[in-house]
Amino acid sequence: MLLRGTGVGRGIAIGPVVRMPDPLSEPDEKRRTTDADSEYSRARAALTTVAADLADRAALAGGEAEGVIHAQAMMTQDPALLDDVRSRIEAGSTAERAVFEAFHSVRQLLLSMGGSPADRAVDVADVSQRVIAQLRGVAPPGVPNVDHPFVLLASDLAPSDAAMLDIGQVLGLITLGGGPTSHTAILARSKGIVAVVGVADAAGIDDGATVLLDAGDGTVTVAPTPEEIAASRERLLARRVAVPVGPGTLADGTGIELLANIGSPDEAEAALRQGAEGIGLFRTEFLFFGARTAPTVAEQQAVYRRLFAACEGKRVVVRTLDAGSDKPLAFLGTGVEENPALGVRGIRALRAHESVLRDQLTALAAADAETDADVWVMAPMVADADETGYFVALARSLGIRVAGVMAEVPSCALMAGQVLGIADFVSIGTNDLTQYTLAADRRLAAVAGYSDPWHPAVLRLVKMLGDAGTQSGRPVGVCGEAAADPMLAVVLVGLGISSLSMAPSALDAVRTQLRQHTLEHARALAVSALGASTAADARARVSEQS
Ligand code: PEP
Ligand code: MG
Repeated sequence: MLLRGTGVGRGIAIGPVVRMPDPLSEPDEKRRTTDADSEYSRARAALTTVAADLADRAALAGGEAEGVIHAQAMMTQDPALLDDVRSRIEAGSTAERAVFEAFHSVRQLLLSMGGSPADRAVDVADVSQRVIAQLRGVAPPGVPNVDHPFVLLASDLAPSDAAMLDIGQVLGLITLGGGPTSHTAILARSKGIVAVVGVADAAGIDDGATVLLDAGDGTVTVAPTPEEIAASRERLLARRVAVPVGPGTLADGTGIELLANIGSPDEAEAALRQGAEGIGLFRTEFLFFGARTAPTVAEQQAVYRRLFAACEGKRVVVRTLDAGSDKPLAFLGTGVEENPALGVRGIRALRAHESVLRDQLTALAAADAETDADVWVMAPMVADADETGYFVALARSLGIRVAGVMAEVPSCALMAGQVLGIADFVSIGTNDLTQYTLAADRRLAAVAGYSDPWHPAVLRLVKMLGDAGTQSGRPVGVCGEAAADPMLAVVLVGLGISSLSMAPSALDAVRTQLRQHTLEHARALAVSALGASTAADARARVSEQS
């Protein structure tokens, strides 16, 4: 049986499926108990077991996640919560229902408070599910503990589940939901996990069934035959003909900088070893993720210093905190928003909490002064010249030497000339640019067909930015997932892009593809793609001519 989705990367994986349990059903309100004492003992025992399990997970996770998971463990022993569970059981509720309602009321309270307390509501819901699973004797939600390598099948992954993935065990990942630019896909790419996302029909695959994932083709074959496995190996070998590690160049010698996207300083060395000429996107959210308050200037400076020291003499482009919408952060709470993707996020959230931005810029400038990397700093989700002016002036006043912006909102591309009159450089975030141009949530499988940076509408916006870069003589790069697609990378270069930043695992394939085209040919391919009517049409036109 052959199923189709969207592949992440070009790898192939074979292994037995392990299904991630779906969220639990709500405990039945109508079931009642008359034996309150034994029902309460059951509840206490389950709460204690979950507390111990979470404490183990916290120790295993380490880093920022440790504090968050530890706080979850503490919730199970909260005296007010235990009292609430007891009184609900005494009023006739089952242990499952009492636990469900007691946690639910904590959740409602946190949500009604808005701001940072509201962001903890999701942690509370997770603990509640764990305790109910324990009471029912079923597997808790989250990535299962299995002692053999497996292909994980999940509806979608929460960031906390994704962070727990053990790449030694997970051979591949299939998700029913999610598009190619969802954070699950980005994480899979950065961890080098072979993934096919948005495979709606995968719900019927049995636990333990052998599957063959081909990310290059975006397919999942259930119970593959030996011939199918052999053919997939041939495909993999054919994809592996890479040019030696070195700077990115076109066939005519034009240099195209190939940079790496990373999410922590620890990833920098490996990225440079894999041939990255520098870091094109350092996502700083990990410093803030799970924190109840912003890290201090000194704490941040130490992290940035470590990164810059690892990249001596090389370019490092740091993105200031990108909070909101798909990256909610506790202490930058903006209250409940009906439509957070269109809410106070990115530069808007930083502007509303300027002290957080000032501290980050101060720490970056101080770390820059102590080291020898070529540090560039950019703000996320900038809409126009006004926001560009605000960020660039503030950054310069705090000692940042090269200040730029990310073009992820279509207005930024439409105003490219003005933006590049102020910013030292622009980096295009094609993940969000695609989401906002096509009005398609990047996390939603149902609209994954629209989440395609090959769409000529997206390419036209990239061209506006590329042209403005050429006219102003200022660099315009791409750091969204589009840069990791070898053929699209060539088209982007033809649109005026001078650097491409991607997960290190994609560097080889992109470097190899660039070497096969002159700048003139890349421009011709770009013209052809711009004239297409759909993403599929653009792909087809380019593949015919290359
Ligand atoms: C993007 O939107 O393309 C981008 C690089 O930023 P992120 O994926 O972190 O939103
Ligand atoms: Mg973005």
